[in-house]
Amino acid sequence: MKVSTAETEAFSLYEAIGAFLAIHRLSADPAYYALAHEILSHPDGALARAVAVRTDGGVRLTQQDMAELGVLARTQPHDTPARPAEDALVAQLTMQLGDFSETVRSIHAETSDFGRDLIATAAAMRQADPASTRNYISELTAAMIERVRQAEARLAAAEQESEALRSALADARSDARQDPLTELANRRAFDEALSALAPHTPVIFALCDIDHFKRVNDQFGHAVGDRVLRAVGQTIAAESGSALVARYGGEEFALLLVGVDMDTATGIVDRARSAVAARRFRSRATDAPIGVVTISAGLAAGTAGETREVLCARADAALYQAKAAGRNQVLSAV
Ligand code: GH3
Ligand code: MG
Ligand code: MG
Repeated sequence: MKVSTAETEAFSLYEAIGAFLAIHRLSADPAYYALAHEILSHPDGALARAVAVRTDGGVRLTQQDMAELGVLARTQPHDTPARPAEDALVAQLTMQLGDFSETVRSIHAETSDFGRDLIATAAAMRQADPASTRNYISELTAAMIERVRQAEARLAAAEQESEALRSALADARSDARQDPLTELANRRAFDEALSALAPHTPVIFALCDIDHFKRVNDQFGHAVGDRVLRAVGQTIAAESGSALVARYGGEEFALLLVGVDMDTATGIVDRARSAVAARRFRSRATDAPIGVVTISAGLAAGTAGETREVLCARADAALYQAKAAGRNQVLSAV
């Protein structure tokens, strides 16, 4: 059987995809297949470059890498399942990748048909009379211009649709990791940051809780409470340098500090505590003073390999002591 160049290329791409899946121990799930297809057919593309960075030195792609690259397989369970909006967008993007390749393939097919027409015509023209040749050339040129115009329009439409989906996916991914009220990281983002560290990495987990926050709600209403909560969260984040600050629960914030000792971490969290206590809140509607709002915090040292729950339990015990000792203070677990 005679095999054309296009068929050889398609076959070697298919083989390369198979090898990629085998090297990274990925199943032939459509999402992984689409990932491999995109990387191997666009080796200079953004996705291929992102994968190259992660696999530098022959490292295998992990589930975490996959999640961060936005690749969600149907056949493999995830520790942190994506929200449905994100899932649907990934599925749509994957499908669109297929549509896009189909568009490019059909444009290729059209241009190669056209090339064949041209060759046949050139041969026929050598025997034809000059007048009918001129006519034919002008018809052929018009047809060629029309095909190119149509191909360009289809490519532009496909590109526009891809761009819209890509930005919707970026929004969905950031929504899934951000607390909407405070605009800080949420628990999911916190967990991802913790598990991205090597297990032996020393970390300090700090748990901050607003003091007597129920009183703010009771006295000024929930809407005012919400704004205070947001302002406290943002003050903590602004004062804690490179620490990751997440909204951990109702009026609680968790900090992840890496590369600092307990004394330094305590100093950082205490600076945030004092910045919150220095603020004078007022109700936006009535301008009535809300007064001083304070936070208490508990810190625990551990390693990134411990679960968030274990670290949190130790920090929570220290927080409980800070509350019992009169609030508006920072204590560390011993
Ligand atoms: P403590 O100093 O012991 O922490 O006292 P507290 O009043 O802060 O603690 P408590 O756990 O009794 O109450 C927490 C309050 O935080 C109750 C709840 O209504 C409020 N809260 C939690 N989440 C939100 C929120 O998203 N918005 C508002 N406005 N209030 C919230
Ligand atoms: Mg609380
Ligand atoms: Mg509280």
